[in-house]
Formats: sequence, structure tokens, C-alpha cells
Amino acid sequence: MKKFRLLAPGPTEVPPEVLLAMARPVIHHRTPEFEALFAEARRGLQWLFQTQREVLLLAASGTGAMEGAVVNACSPGDRVLVIRGGKFGERWAEICLAHGLSVIPVEISYGKAVDPRQVAAALRKDTGIAAVFVTHSETSTGVLHDLEAIAAIVRQTPALLVVDAITSLAVVDLPTDAWGVDVVVGASQKAMMLPPGLAFACLSDRGWAAAERARLPRYYFNFLTEQKSQAQHQTAWTPAVSLIAGLKVALDLLQAEGLAAVFARHERLAQATRAAVTALGLTLFAERPSPAVTAVKVPEGVDGDAIVRVLRDTHGISIAGGQGSMKGKIFRIATLGYADAYDVLTGIAALEFTLAELGYPVRLGDGLRAAQDVFQK
Ligand SMILES: *Cc1c(COP(=O)(O)O)cnc(C)c1O
Repeated sequence: MKKFRLLAPGPTEVPPEVLLAMARPVIHHRTPEFEALFAEARRGLQWLFQTQREVLLLAASGTGAMEGAVVNACSPGDRVLVIRGGKFGERWAEICLAHGLSVIPVEISYGKAVDPRQVAAALRKDTGIAAVFVTHSETSTGVLHDLEAIAAIVRQTPALLVVDAITSLAVVDLPTDAWGVDVVVGASQKAMMLPPGLAFACLSDRGWAAAERARLPRYYFNFLTEQKSQAQHQTAWTPAVSLIAGLKVALDLLQAEGLAAVFARHERLAQATRAAVTALGLTLFAERPSPAVTAVKVPEGVDGDAIVRVLRDTHGISIAGGQGSMKGKIFRIATLGYADAYDVLTGIAALEFTLAELGYPVRLGDGLRAAQDVFQK
């Protein structure tokens, strides 16, 4: 018998209460019963997104909401500023390029956070930039960008601020309205304690004005169509009914815990993870680490892919390796969503065994003790 555990930055573990809600018979979506469920789920999302605006629900993975953000915010020929420095920042650039936009990249070395002054300088240099695309928590490098500072800069300009919050929602504070973020996108399979398949988008008044003006082709992800339906407690297309049933329960769980407590839990889990890997003599990769995921440099002489493989095949634990050019150079342990201290301790114990098996000198328990010290404080 082997027990499997997800400690990867998506998909993540799903609480039993949520699994049970999703196992119930599928209800028809053009019914008062669905409309009541949908209305409750949307109220919960407004709480989570810290917004008075509508949060749109889409049946898609996170990338669908990202593409939706692009086609609803932009028009052909628009110049857009994209913070790169990781696979997901690069994805924003790829989507914009696919739609024929003119991308002005802000290049950041992997593992580094953008200096908000770089954004300010780029916006001063080109006052015609239509939108700025940011990844709040860059899952591929484990970096948390300083969104509050970036938002304060972009708000002073006519440019829209579009944010991938897929691993920052329900992890770190992101007061959408207070910071004046124009488009926030999220996805179900990260900290929202759900399987993959739902994506979210929340637009400010400026965001909605842009959606009215936008002239890129759009159909499935036309946010105006979706908004009109949601105002009637309906969706434009067939919704992911079972996922929405789960979403309602997941939001109830988060609300019972409280937003500040949710953020504090993630911070603590990440602190313990960082303390543990550091105590094992390993080096953190991110200079401004995200509480969602801890990226660790693969030590000299150890096969990075083997760390991920042995953890999965021998110990039943899925973590993530590096993506693209980071493959084999880093590994990433998520502390995301339905996770507690014992997930971290289990993961660290298994990591110690794995490193030992791969010939890296560890004293079993060094990482665990460092993590326990954090939890005991
Ligand atoms: C997971 C993730 C995505 C979305 O990827 P999908 O596979 O389309 O759900 C986008 N951005 C970030 C930062 C992510 O972590």
C-alpha cells in the first residue's frame, strides 16, 4: 500500500468536505437550485478577492482566464508591458504575442523580484502603454513580486494593471479594490482547495471600461457576455456544476478560518519549509520568496530530476522540479491550499530520506527539527 500526497504547486490536496460536495448528483444549471448555489459561491469569491465587483467564473484552467484577460483588456496594435522572469510571466508575453500585441518585456533574472522602479521607468519612457501584465506569485521560480508597490505606480498612469494571482489568492493579501488592480485572474487547483477546471476573473471599473472598448476577437471568453449572465445568477455556457458545488464548500472553509488566518498559515508553512531546507545545507532560489511555494537549488552533484522522481516513486509525494531552463536546477515544494504543519513535516522527512538515498550528506532530522522549531514558536 502506498499513500499519495500532493506537495506540488497545483494541483493540490482537496478537503474531504469538498470532495463530498462534488460527489453529489449533478444538478441542472438552468434551475433555481443552481442559481442559489452560484449566488452563494460568487459572494464567497467577492470576499476572497476583497472586491465589491463581480468575480466571473469560467470553465477553464488558469491559462483560459489569462487569455480572457488579454482579449478583454486589449485591442490590436496595443503596446503592453510584461514582467517576465519566469514561466508564467513568459506565458503572459506568449498570449499577448499570439494575439498580435506589441510586447515590451521587463526582463528579470530567474529567482529575482522585479524592482518596481523598473516598471515606473518603463511607463515613463512609453506613455502609450495600454496594460501592464504581472504575475503576483511566480510559481516557476518561487518569487513573490511586490504587487502593492507596482499597483501604486500603475494606478498613476492610464495603463491597466492585469495580475495573475493564481498562486497568491488565498495565500497572501491581495486587496483587489484597495490596491486598484484592474484585472485579477485565479484558478481552482492552487490555494482554493479544488481540483483543476475553474478559473476566475475580477475586473475593476477601469477594467470593464476597457472590456467595452476592446477589439480583439473573443467569444467563449467574452467577459461582457459572461457578466450579463452572472448578473442573472447564470453562466453564459454550461458551468462546471460539480466544481462550483465544491467551490461553495471550499469558500465556507476559508471563511470559517478567516482571511488573515489563511495568510498567516501559509506564511508559517513556508517559513518552516525554508528553515528546514536551509538547515539541510540547501540554498533557497527566490530572493523574495512566495509563501505558496519554496524553490530550492539542487545541490552540486545531485540529480535534480531524481529528487522529484524518488520522492514520487518511493515516497508517494509529488513535488515539482524546475520548468524550462530551470529543469534539474531547482525543485519546488508547495505549501498551498489544504496544507498544515504535518504536510510540511512529512514532506521534509521524505526529502531527507530522498537526499540521503541520492548520496547527499544529510543528518536525518536536521530539517525536521528546524521546521518544528518554527511551528513551536
Ligand atoms: C498554475 C499557474 C497558472 C495556470 O496554469 P493552468 O495550467 O492553465 O491552470 C498560471 N499562473 C501561475 C502563476 C500558476 O501557478
